Amino acid sequence: MASVLEIGEFRITAVRAGSYWWDGGAMFGVVPKTLWLKHQSSDDLNRIEAGLNCFVVESDNQRVLIETGGGIRHDQRSLDRMRMSQPVDAAAALANLGFESDSIDLVINTHLHWDHCGGNTVDVGDTAVAAFPQARYVVQRAELEHAREQLPRDAVSYRAPNYEPLLESGHLHLLDGDVEVLPGIHLRVAPGHNRDMMVVRVHSGGQTWCHLADLAPYAAHVTPTWVAAFDLFPLETIRSKNELFARAASEGWWCSFGHDPKVDFARIQSQAGKFSIAEA
Ligand SMILES: [Zn+2]
Repeated sequence: MASVLEIGEFRITAVRAGSYWWDGGAMFGVVPKTLWLKHQSSDDLNRIEAGLNCFVVESDNQRVLIETGGGIRHDQRSLDRMRMSQPVDAAAALANLGFESDSIDLVINTHLHWDHCGGNTVDVGDTAVAAFPQARYVVQRAELEHAREQLPRDAVSYRAPNYEPLLESGHLHLLDGDVEVLPGIHLRVAPGHNRDMMVVRVHSGGQTWCHLADLAPYAAHVTPTWVAAFDLFPLETIRSKNELFARAASEGWWCSFGHDPKVDFARIQSQAGKFSIAEA
């Protein structure tokens, strides 16, 4: 059953488009396994489960999808490496819950790593087309430019079929910095994981929900210095987290995480200068 959160006039549904298993050390960077293992159990190859977390945000007249999972374009070698016995097509998973592909008005890609936009497109013959044909897709312009640079450090995360066809078809719109993309839905660049990843903040009726994406991939990343080894700018991750978590704690925000396979929504609290997840 999907878990649902009401934020003022918005209804937010957490949808996990399957999961993949990745090295726990990569997910927790310099944090020793003796510490992270208390939060996330690992398999015999030291991999931990990473949920492909997507969210549907609905109001009376709009349906917004945040992230599209990892998609189904993986060769057998990668599937074995990532323990992905059955890669999940986000559009199909959403349709099973009653969110038909045609009903999505806006798709937000926090960034263009494959595990956040792999379900943006579907293959029809040799052509990749929009999986959500009626939707406007948005991402930061600088993130697309970075993706196209194909730098040695992170080229492997960026796969052109997930976004280039959407530019050609006019579906993908490029953003320049922070924006209220629809009334009550705020996109903000939060540097750290990379330069131009966005967090999504939904605010209505005095309540706030924030999708932290890979700024905090797991709830265990609530400690600001717990930073994934992937992050290009770890000091900026810490700065971005401190700033956002302080607001989240003082204003009682609900938060969500890019890859936590179990936690859909959680509140962050601050006690004696330390952030932690509030007991539900
Ligand atoms: Zn990710």
